[in-house]
Amino acid sequence: MTIPNSTASTAENASSRLPAEEKRIVSELATNSNEPDSYFAVSKRWYASWRKYVNTPLGGGAAAPRPGPIDNSDIIETDPYLGRKSLAKEKAYVLVTQLVWNTLLEWYSGGPPIPRTFIYLYLSDSRDDDDDNDDNEAHIRDYYDMNKGELLDPLSNKSLEESGLVTNQDILLEVDERGLAGLVNLGNTCYMNSAVQCLAHTPPIHEYFLRDHAHQGELAKAFGKLLTELWSSGTNAVAPRVFKKKVDKAAPQFTGHYQHDSHELLLALLTGLHQDSDIVNVFQGQCKSSLVCPVCGETANTYDSFTSLSLPLPSTPTPSISLISCLEEYLAEEPLGPDNMWFCPQCKKQRQANKKLDLWKLPEILMFQLKRFRTSKYFLKKIDAFVDFPVDELDLSKYVENWESCLYELYAVCNHDGGIGLGHYTAYAKMIDDDNEWYCYDDSLVSPVDESEIVSSAAYLLFYRRVGSETETKSAEVSMTDDMDLS
Ligand SMILES: [Zn+2]
Repeated sequence: MTIPNSTASTAENASSRLPAEEKRIVSELATNSNEPDSYFAVSKRWYASWRKYVNTPLGGGAAAPRPGPIDNSDIIETDPYLGRKSLAKEKAYVLVTQLVWNTLLEWYSGGPPIPRTFIYLYLSDSRDDDDDNDDNEAHIRDYYDMNKGELLDPLSNKSLEESGLVTNQDILLEVDERGLAGLVNLGNTCYMNSAVQCLAHTPPIHEYFLRDHAHQGELAKAFGKLLTELWSSGTNAVAPRVFKKKVDKAAPQFTGHYQHDSHELLLALLTGLHQDSDIVNVFQGQCKSSLVCPVCGETANTYDSFTSLSLPLPSTPTPSISLISCLEEYLAEEPLGPDNMWFCPQCKKQRQANKKLDLWKLPEILMFQLKRFRTSKYFLKKIDAFVDFPVDELDLSKYVENWESCLYELYAVCNHDGGIGLGHYTAYAKMIDDDNEWYCYDDSLVSPVDESEIVSSAAYLLFYRRVGSETETKSAEVSMTDDMDLS
C-alpha cells in the first residue's frame, strides 16, 4: 500500500472566512460524523498551527498566521530501497474524519491524503521492529461485514488466510484514540465541558468510573456513562445531554444555557458524586487554621477539609507571579478584622486575633483555583496576571506539616480566555500512560498542544497528581482532637 500523491486541489481564497468560522465549521463536521471508519491522518505540526490560527482572539492578542498548505511530509517516511512510502513511526499525527479532511483540503490544499486504511496496515506491518510495546495502545480486530470479530495478534506469524481474513475486508482499530474525544457545546456549556475533560483525565476518577459499578445516584450513573463514551468513541465528539440534565437536577443553579464558573460546577459535581462514591475523596486534603491571640499567645487550631485551594491573585496590575508566591500569600498570617473579633479563652475577652493557615494533609489530586474573578458590591472584574506554575515538579514539602510525599506533577488545566461573560473555557490534559502528550479540549475540537503552551495567562484551574513514594512518613500520626470538619 502506498500513499497517494498530493492532489493538486485549488485552495480557496483565504479572505472569505474568519478563523473562528473555520473553527466552528470543523467543530460541527467533527461532531456530525458518525462513520467510525473514515479517518485521515494529519501532521500534528500542521494541525497545531491551524489550531493556533483559529483560536486567535477577536480584536486582541497577537494574531497567529494562517498556516500554509497541509503538509503531511513530516509524518511520511520513504523506504530508500523500495521507494515505498510509509507512516513515520512516532505518533506525530492526529486522526480527523473524512468530512473534516475534505474541508481542510478544500481550504488549504496540500496533502498527501493518508486514509486510515493505511494506518491499519502500518500497525500490522510494524510488528517486527516494534520494540516499545505499542500493543497496549491499539488492538486490531477482524471487522468483516461490520461485525466485531476476533482480536488480531500483531505478533503472530499467521498469514492473512490463517487469521481468517479476506482481501479488502475491513479491520477495526480499537482504543488507539482513547480519551481524545471532544464534548459538544450544548449552548454556553464550555464551562462544563472543560471541567468534565479535566475530571475525565484524572487517573483515579476515570479508572473508577470506567469499571462497572452499580451506581445508586442518577448523577453518578450519567457521569459514568459519559466517561465511558468519552473513552471509547475514538475521536468523535460526544453530546453530554443526559449528563447536563442530571447536573441541572442535582444543582439547579446550572439550569439553562448561561455561562457559569467551571470551578463552581466542579465543586457541585464532586459533591453530587460524593453521595454515590468515596472516590472523589482523592481531591480532599486538610488544612489547619490557627487563631493566635497576640496579647497572651493563646492558640486555637481547627482542621478543615478542602477540595481545592483557591489562591488570591494580586489586585494591582502584575505582569507575572509564581504559583508558590500565590500560595505563600494564601498561607500568610493576617489579622482578623475588627468586625470579626475572637473570644480568647485565656484572656476571657474579645480580641483581634491573627489568623494563620497551614497545609496539613495534601490529597492525591491537588486542585488549585487561581482567583481571576473578583467580585465586589458594584463590579466584577477579571485579573489577567500570568501565573507561572511548574508542569513537571511541584514540591510542597516546605509547606506541609504532616504528610508523606509532597511531590506533584501537572496533568490538566482548565483555561478561561477573554472577559467575563464573553469568555470561553477550554481544557488542556495530558494523556498519562498513553503517549504522555498534551491535548487541547475545546468543546468538540481536540488537538495536540505543545507543552510550552500549557502555562499561560488563561490558566484558571490547575490539576496536579501526587507522584513518587507515599511511604516516607514525615511525622508520626497526630491525634486530631481539635474540631474537625470533614463535611
Ligand atoms: Zn488572650
